[in-house]
Order: sequence, then structure tokens, then C-alpha cells
Amino acid sequence: MWVAEGLTHRYPTKVLAELLPTCPQYCGHCTRMDLVGNSTPVIDKLKFAGKPNDRLGEMMDYLRRTPSVRDVVVSGGDVANMPWPRLEDFLTKLLEIENIRDIRLATKALIGLPQHWLQDDVRAGMERVATTARERGVSVAIHTHTNHANSVTPIVARATRAMLDTGIRDVRNQGVLLNGVNADPHALLDLCFRLLDGAQIMPYYFYMCDMIPFAEHWRVSVADAQRLQHHIMGYLPGFATPRIVCDVPFVGKRWVHQLADYDTERGISYWTKNYRTSIEAADPEALNRTFEYYDPIHTLPESGQQWWAQHADLDSTALKAAEVAEASRRMAALQAY
Ligand code: SF4
Repeated sequence: MWVAEGLTHRYPTKVLAELLPTCPQYCGHCTRMDLVGNSTPVIDKLKFAGKPNDRLGEMMDYLRRTPSVRDVVVSGGDVANMPWPRLEDFLTKLLEIENIRDIRLATKALIGLPQHWLQDDVRAGMERVATTARERGVSVAIHTHTNHANSVTPIVARATRAMLDTGIRDVRNQGVLLNGVNADPHALLDLCFRLLDGAQIMPYYFYMCDMIPFAEHWRVSVADAQRLQHHIMGYLPGFATPRIVCDVPFVGKRWVHQLADYDTERGISYWTKNYRTSIEAADPEALNRTFEYYDPIHTLPESGQQWWAQHADLDSTALKAAEVAEASRRMAALQAY
């Protein structure tokens, strides 16, 4: 769905600008692992072909000639890995485009490397961006990513305060639902209260972990995600109650209660979409079809697991074995550490 290299136009009014393919974090469950980081023995990553300046210029050209776009997520990887002057230049040019009303900067470094956002030149630069944005009535916010209350440390709170003091509109958290880390109501609420009260970060979304290799041990079923959403209702202010969402392939973000149908035995949920993207522009059935998302097999009832055992092909069985071996290796390394 790239309309220019690194610029994804998937929703009607919003785009995602991946400025660079690096990140200071490299999560095992990275939702952008098709691009972010170097290739590994099992995953071949995309490589940007264009030179950085040309790519950013082409993104800007697309946004100038596409007035239906009002909202740009500026991401990577992580924007903290981009030298500040180049990031500020990109943001300043974005602010000159009349139709852009929302700019969101994606950085997990606010949690993992808060010192970056405390540097004097970064703070001063963000203040210039925020001032221009305010003058033009544009909202600039930081979207960060943390998954456990223990990550919300005093220096994270300081860095967040520093960013809010520059005049940006908000700092919000988009976490990932991870089995064994935060996928129970107490852990989620603990994290949300720590974010809200301890660091003035708005709990915003929890994404279900994407269906990517080597992440099965973290994934939860849609049914569990629905239960979690139910359990966390009513404790936080409504504006700070995070929505648990599923990023359904070929559809996009959907709240976990929005599914059209659900086969809980085989763990297949069915979802619909209400807009076309570029890849199905000519498909007259796109808005009538359903799209699937799959629960992890180990969460299914015995009968469902057997159905998959009978229907899985050799390749996926081999992949599953490789995943189990990799998960065991990681667990052993963690225990040794
Ligand atoms: S912080 Fe975001 S971009 Fe970086 S590795 Fe994690 S999920 Fe991927």
C-alpha cells in the first residue's frame, strides 16, 4: 500500500510515513518487522531503494497533491533515530501543507531511551515545531509504546513532561497485548494508572500482537482480548480507557468486539471493512467480503487443535517446530541471564 516509498495510505484520511528503517528497541513482536532492522536467517527485510532525501521529497509531493489526507503518523522504526534537524525539516514542511491537521510522532524511545527527548536541542526544536503547529491550528502529539508498568520510570515521566512543556498537544501510549507480560486485567490497569498518574501519558490503544513468526507465545485469542476489554472498563476515566484493537490483515484496526463472526473452535474470526484501499480499488466485492484473523493454535480447544493438526501443511508444521525451538532458546537465555 506504499504510495511513495515508505508512505502507506491504508485508511481514507490517514497515512503512515516510515522515515527510516531503524529503531533503538527492536521488539521481538515488531509490527513493522517486514522493514525494521536487518534481515535475519528467517526473515528477509524490505530495503528502501531510494536515497533518504528523495524518498522524503516524494512523500511530501504525494501529501501536497492529496488533499483527502489530514493525518500523518511520522514513524520508522523510531523517529528518535533520525537526526533532529532532518526530522524538524520534515515536520516543518508537513506543517506548510494546508490539509494536514494532525501529526503524530511514533517513538518508543520515550520509554526505552528517554534521555534522547531530554536533550536541549531536541527540546528546543520540538518547541519550534509545537509553536508553529499551534499558530496553524494543527495538533502534534507523541505516540509511544510501553507494555508494562515497570517501564514507566521517573526519567520517562521527566522526558514526557519536557515534551508536554514544549506545547505539543498530548503524549499517548499504544501498547501491545502480550501473554505473560500484560495480558491480565490487573497488569493492564496497573500500567494505565502508572501512565496516567505517574507520567501524564494517555493510555490509548492496546494492539493484539500481529501474526508474525516467533510471536505465538505472546499472542492471545480474540476471545481473551474481548474479556480483557470487558474487565478493564469502568476503572479509568472514559477518555483514558484504552481500546483493545486487532490489526486485521487487509482491513486495518478494528475494536475487538467489532468482528462479524467467530469460529471459536478453530479460532478464526471474520471481519468486514467499510472503505477501500488502493489494493482493492477495483474489487467490487471488497466491502461485502469478510477477512480472517487467526487465534494462536495453543489457545484452541482440543478439537480445534486437532483440526489444524490434520489440515496444516508440512511447511507450516516445520515453521511451528522452528518457532517452538526458538521460543525455548529465548526462554533458556532469559533464565540463564
Ligand atoms: S518500537 Fe515499534 S518499530 Fe521499534 S521494534 Fe518495537 S514495534 Fe518495531
